[in-house]
Amino acid sequence: MKKTLIVANWKMNLTTHQASTLVHRYNQVITGHQNIEVVIAPSTLSLQPLSIELDRRKFRLAAQDAYPKDEGPYTGEVSFAMLRDLVHYCIVGHSARRVYFGESLELIRDKVGAAVRNGICPIICIGETKHERDSGETKQVIHDQITTALKNITSDELETIVIAYEPVWAISTFQGEVAKPDDMQKAIDYIRFQIKELYGAHAAEVVRVIYGGSVNEQDVRAYLELPGCDGVLVGAASLNYAKFGAIVDSAYRLQHEQL
Ligand code: PEP
Repeated sequence: MKKTLIVANWKMNLTTHQASTLVHRYNQVITGHQNIEVVIAPSTLSLQPLSIELDRRKFRLAAQDAYPKDEGPYTGEVSFAMLRDLVHYCIVGHSARRVYFGESLELIRDKVGAAVRNGICPIICIGETKHERDSGETKQVIHDQITTALKNITSDELETIVIAYEPVWAISTFQGEVAKPDDMQKAIDYIRFQIKELYGAHAAEVVRVIYGGSVNEQDVRAYLELPGCDGVLVGAASLNYAKFGAIVDSAYRLQHEQL
């Protein structure tokens, strides 16, 4: 049985002090489970202190982004090479990066390559915008994002990679439009189909595919129950320790029922 992956993306929130406090709260409400992997993605600034403070039996760290060159005159950037001893994972190509910072498919491809080269598992975010969805382009967008991001990745390396399906129209839309599990199932199946086309059936099975988009403690189960959904990426709800604790708890109960 694959471990369920639950990623907390704190985005550009929390000072280092607040981040430590939230980890402390997580620690109180979350019990370590063998089959659940809880990953915290704080701001880059908080990675170092949290790497010392957090209970490694319960939590792993992810960066929210990094620069694909290992070193050089890239003022203001932090490279994957600099993060390699601090984090297990790095989010790559989050829609916020694509929308606010104009990240191209090629830049995302280079970041995926740099992550793998430095022993960091990339969590590659893909997903269509509302406009693309309304124009019936969802499959094309998923196809283009996957084929470009994985261009330099071998089938062996695929085992470390996570693909997060995050339809842009479903991110942080609390009380707005949410993705229906049926739509998610189609997208997850299509992602695995694409991986099968590129790398074969075994790879399509082992690659981890997770869902992100306004996940909360009430609906997380519906997503995790979908065949082929290996976890969730949680943004806003992860800033609330009680909600995030309930999300981890739901994942645990579901795993337990399926044993
Ligand atoms: C995200 O940050 O990737 C995300 C899915 O956020 P939210 O849960 O707030 O939609």
